[in-house]
Amino acid sequence: MTQAFRDEHQREEQPDASQEARGVQFAEPPVLEDEGVVRKPSPAAAGAVSVLETMRRSLATMGAKRTLATLSQVNQKDGFDCPSCAWPDPDSKRRMAEFCENGAKAIASEATLRRVTPEFFAAHSISELAAHSDLWLDQQGRLTHPLLRQKGSEHYQAISWEEAFSLIGRELNALASPNEAAFYTSGRTSNEAAFMYQLFVRQFGTNNLPDCSNMCHESSGLGLNETIGIGKATVKIEDFEHADSIFVIGQNPGTNHPRMLSELQKAARNGCKIVSINPLAETGLIRFKNPQEALGLLGVGSAIASLFLPVRVNGDVALLKGIMKEMLDADRKSAGTRLDHHFIAHHTENFDAFLRDLDAESWETILAESGVSRELIQQAAQIALESERMICCWAMGITQHNNGVANVQSIVNFALLRGQIGRRGAGLCPVRGHSNVQGDRTVGISEKMNENFMQALGKEFGFTPPAAHGYDVVKSIQAMHGGRVKVFLGMGGNFLSATPDTHYTAEALSRCRLTVQISTKLNRGHLVTGEQALILPCLGRTERDIQAGGEQFVSVEDTTGVVHQSRGVLEPASAELRSEPAIVAGIAQATLGARSSVPWSALVADYDRVRDHIEHVVPGFSQYNRRVREPGGFYLPNGPREGTFPTSTRRARFTVHAIPRLGLARGQLLLTTLRSHDQFNTTIYGEDDRYRGIFGTRRVVFLNAEDIRERNLSEGQWVDLVSHFPSGQRRAAHFKVVRYDIPRGCAAAYFPETNVLVAVDSVAAKSNQPAYKSIIISVETSPSAPAVG
Ligand code: SF4
Repeated sequence: MTQAFRDEHQREEQPDASQEARGVQFAEPPVLEDEGVVRKPSPAAAGAVSVLETMRRSLATMGAKRTLATLSQVNQKDGFDCPSCAWPDPDSKRRMAEFCENGAKAIASEATLRRVTPEFFAAHSISELAAHSDLWLDQQGRLTHPLLRQKGSEHYQAISWEEAFSLIGRELNALASPNEAAFYTSGRTSNEAAFMYQLFVRQFGTNNLPDCSNMCHESSGLGLNETIGIGKATVKIEDFEHADSIFVIGQNPGTNHPRMLSELQKAARNGCKIVSINPLAETGLIRFKNPQEALGLLGVGSAIASLFLPVRVNGDVALLKGIMKEMLDADRKSAGTRLDHHFIAHHTENFDAFLRDLDAESWETILAESGVSRELIQQAAQIALESERMICCWAMGITQHNNGVANVQSIVNFALLRGQIGRRGAGLCPVRGHSNVQGDRTVGISEKMNENFMQALGKEFGFTPPAAHGYDVVKSIQAMHGGRVKVFLGMGGNFLSATPDTHYTAEALSRCRLTVQISTKLNRGHLVTGEQALILPCLGRTERDIQAGGEQFVSVEDTTGVVHQSRGVLEPASAELRSEPAIVAGIAQATLGARSSVPWSALVADYDRVRDHIEHVVPGFSQYNRRVREPGGFYLPNGPREGTFPTSTRRARFTVHAIPRLGLARGQLLLTTLRSHDQFNTTIYGEDDRYRGIFGTRRVVFLNAEDIRERNLSEGQWVDLVSHFPSGQRRAAHFKVVRYDIPRGCAAAYFPETNVLVAVDSVAAKSNQPAYKSIIISVETSPSAPAVG
């Protein structure tokens, strides 16, 4: 932690002596002087290398029998859902191998044969574990027993489930107010577990339900809800093969949603134009070797993007305005025949204000702020004008900015110009990052659920849910730091690594009286704890779930709103594991006792009962238990997809957004965080990123050749990254300079290592989503040689 930063926050809120004495701090993993090799990036995504990599990792981690048992069942209609991203499965017949390399890595990581037992924790103190890398922590295997870190202890030790539940119940009931607890959810949590969890939390008396959606697509949900009346994608997977063009904006599907490349390949073969808008030309969007095809394995693969626009980091509003200005110009020159004026007149509002703003925007500003040439902008506009059916996809390159909502709504404006919503082969598609992040929100995980849901929930269970909005992720961190939240419970995920301002967040967690993590594997979040800490080990997606009523399945919702079942196939990693619904029920019973009339044990015995309640509370789930058993599940209703906008005026709304001016001082750069190919969210599977040519390290910063030269840096040199916020500077030490094809004035480095640079209060306007991709930094020569771990 930098002294400046420590001073800053200590001025704000002084930690008490006992917390200081515990010495609970976030430890940066070690850096090796000679680590890392930079080679040429892979010319194509997937292919034979990907298949070999899949088999190598799967066999090494799971063995042959488990590899076959799991990979033959993942994403099959009667199998289990991939625990990684939320990309949809085909509605039609599925192939034998319905997974990608990264899905296989996630499964191998969960189905590993290695175990982390109480003896492991007896042998390793928490500070000893903290000195290891995230990769090493993940490689130790599956957690097998509930564990307690007692006050003042340096070791976790086994505890019974009953003792763990009663400890949680005691701590929660000792709080002065239910609002002194926060209950986080990660996107792996099933619909059933999430619904029970939010019910427990609301019966306990708070809406403090932060979730990972607060960090990934909060800006999409809000931006879409305000403009089209629903915060979700409006496309089905089949739309991709009918599209004339697909704009992929601020998204790297080759690493983060790899099976999307199959749909893009099919589309490209149908003549669809794929336009990639991103600061980096990502391999997956350049060329794809489909491992499902013999030629894909052996040949050169298929070209994917027909046009690449190398937009500056956060230059998207400027770029989209440029494209729309060209479209408007073409429309005026053709007597109003190029835009869909019938759609605009009958299905939208605020078009005149939008037009006035677009007309007033100067090309000088558009070109300077987007960093894209007029010629490329014209080409993109031409593709949009020629498309009867256009899909726009995006991910966190759009949402994780201070103006993330404006970015999303600029994409909506772009789609509305030619009525590209509500018709086959067209629509909007925010691509979700974690397998059930969308479903969790649908069934009630939100700090501010809508009034209808809250009323229906109260009616179904005979109580009055709390009315006041709760804390999202950022507000939870601030509340823990300020002593207003004293108990933190995390349903899955790795809160510490996923969140911004890592040192500040670590301090926040360490100020809690109790932290509880419901987890499958060891991660850094277990090593920075409250006064007392619990780890509660749960079943993974790959595992069979046997309850009193027999074998159970759970259900999840993908990015296109398909709800389907997921049924594990492996024996649990330990006889001590419990399912997430069972853990929620145990905590609820220990906390609420007779205050709750919910039959928690009966819900756990048979998840059909949970689904019956969801059906009564959440619109769109009629006959849930019957329809979820149909092969492939069912689509939730989606007004815009079906041609109606459920806004207050029943119209989609054009919105007006200024081009952001970031005002970089001389020498400063705009840093975007990104993931490597050996990574899923905060889970690190390896230290290579072969699509970008990085091997054996994650501590690299990608810079433009001119920016390297201008700063008298050299490739391979160690530098520190220093971020600049009104609240002060933050430093991430020891990153190797890598020359890369990235727009001038921009930089990129891996998440979560660079989360230390993001001020907790640097968030998107309106959505409060952390701005991990709008970080103003300067690059300083590393003052000392890296520590050797
Ligand atoms: S695309 Fe996503 S959901 Fe599908 S197998 Fe790959 S990681 Fe899993």
